[in-house]
Amino acid sequence: FSNGQNGPAETTTSQTQPQHADVFSLAGKRALITGGGTGIGLAIAQCMAAAGATVIITGRREAVLREAAESIGESVQYVVNDVTDLSAIDAMVAEVEATHGPLDILVNNAGINLKKPALEVTDEDFSRILHTNLHSVFALTRACASRMMARQKGCILMISSMAAYYGIDRVVAYAASKSAVEGMVKVLASEFSGHGVRVNAIAPGFIETAMSRTAMNSDPDRRDRAMRRTPMGKFGQPEDIGNAAVFLSSDAARYITGASLPVDGGNSIGF
Ligand code: NDP
Repeated sequence: FSNGQNGPAETTTSQTQPQHADVFSLAGKRALITGGGTGIGLAIAQCMAAAGATVIITGRREAVLREAAESIGESVQYVVNDVTDLSAIDAMVAEVEATHGPLDILVNNAGINLKKPALEVTDEDFSRILHTNLHSVFALTRACASRMMARQKGCILMISSMAAYYGIDRVVAYAASKSAVEGMVKVLASEFSGHGVRVNAIAPGFIETAMSRTAMNSDPDRRDRAMRRTPMGKFGQPEDIGNAAVFLSSDAARYITGASLPVDGGNSIGF
């Protein structure tokens, strides 16, 4: 099992194993986080910055991004960007790398949901959700991965959802998009693993953010049903996803690729 068999790895032998506390450090790494101005993306930015990374957050609202970046500190910068504008993605990545240096980590976090009974979902609805949650994720991943593979190192994370795995009513387009992302993770992990780039997903359960509050408020029984399905008896906090993202991006996870990590208070044990 010499390392050469399957291409380069980020760290190779036990001689290069960092001290235990350091394996979770992101010092010296640069991370691009889509949708990093709010909710889970903001918490990932906070956790990665605390772990030592330089972080670039994106989103469509400049004021939100500015406030988020200022709340964390100098290690966080922002770029106004709409991920659905596929023609602008390559230029955005090129500009980020020219300004801040080569990216080590991409977190595809930006996403939108739509709660409607399946028969009321229009073609426009379906396309909009799939475009934001799936096609944009692929396009940005391709732009970053081509650069990372040329450097033989990188880590790509998808923020998926347990909706990819379970039949949650009235989120048909969202569930389809997240299931497709989960499928994409395995293919990309396989294709990229010989080039030093790992690809993984985090599948959050019920996490308290603006997105989940909107969903809960639109359906008064939903909070009770969600709680009944959560063995730990409480909803997750955005930093629970942030901590998992730090782990999967760090050298502590150097032998993990193609995985989907549920962070869900036990939802995935089964309903
Ligand atoms: P929020 O609504 O708080 O965050 C979504 C973020 O995505 C916002 O910052 C938004 O910024 C950004 N975004 C949306 N559309 C675009 C776009 N076209 N271009 C660029 N940025 C965009 O939701 P959460 O933090 O809850 O969700 C984050 C991720 O976690 C999503 O992928 C979601 O599916 C996933 N998730 C969340 C769960 C939960 O319980 N909260 C559970 C499972 C998964 P702006 O509007 O400024 O562009």
